[in-house]
Amino acid sequence: MNPLTATAVGKRYRSRWAVRDCSFTIPEGKVVALVGPNGAGKSTLLGMAAGIVRPTTGGLSAFGTPTAGRTHPDVSYLGQNRSLYHDLTVRELTRAVGSMNDRWSTDRVHEVLGLLTGVDHDAKVGTLSAGTRTQVAIAMALGRLPRLLLLDEPLSDLDPLARDETLRIIMTEVADRGTTVVMSSHLLTDLREVCDHILLVDEGRVQVDGDIEEVLARHRILVGPAADESSVEGTLVSATRTARQSTLLLREAAPTPKGWEGTEPDLESLVMGYLRASRERRR
Ligand code: ADP
Repeated sequence: MNPLTATAVGKRYRSRWAVRDCSFTIPEGKVVALVGPNGAGKSTLLGMAAGIVRPTTGGLSAFGTPTAGRTHPDVSYLGQNRSLYHDLTVRELTRAVGSMNDRWSTDRVHEVLGLLTGVDHDAKVGTLSAGTRTQVAIAMALGRLPRLLLLDEPLSDLDPLARDETLRIIMTEVADRGTTVVMSSHLLTDLREVCDHILLVDEGRVQVDGDIEEVLARHRILVGPAADESSVEGTLVSATRTARQSTLLLREAAPTPKGWEGTEPDLESLVMGYLRASRERRR
């Protein structure tokens, strides 16, 4: 059973669709970058996958079980609102969260926290830095021994060192336990380090879905004369044009025409190209 499958899932808030007709499958062991502009529907998708946001249409299933209304026992979710109990110490928090979960490993929490420099288990959670609090929250999520980990913007508000440590926790989890991870972030360079699969959403719909290497190989960046784009073949995703030069992002491009320079995009330029197209459409 795949860790996560979406079948024509949609979510409407009043008259507005936050997520629309999304279908995709996340295969086991993948580390998925969930990207898209603000308001694209990423948090709503993750909330539905975690079973805390109810779909309006269609549905998601985790390991073959519909997620609506409950979090699957094999799924851990860390939302953007990381409200931990600030008055508890890390040790007390570990015990409290453990008592709320049928399957729980205190050893795993200690193992994860042990990867970090100097987390004082007797410090109150409220006194920890924002970065350490996020890491403690991830450790709690991993204490449930999930097979699918859903992280909504786990790297936001973290300084570079804390980001690096947090990525290390995630990479160690994937290497040690083969956990499937879906994480949303705007930090594309960081995502590139850990992710092998991309899910790009915009206006509630999936725009790009697949193995990052394969997706990149399906796209080309062409740079050439602004005056004549007639020789360029492929599906144009977006373009930036100056008086002299055009830079085009193409999907399924034909061989590079004469007078143009063609390269494979990196993750950052691919995502930027799709975001640019999204902004143009909205104008
Ligand atoms: P993202 O995580 O990509 O920034 P969200 O899933 O948070 O996107 O939001 C998608 C859209 O749904 C946005 O237009 C947002 O304003 C709207 N939305 C999200 N949650 C709610 C809610 N609880 N009530 C009403 N609208 C919401």
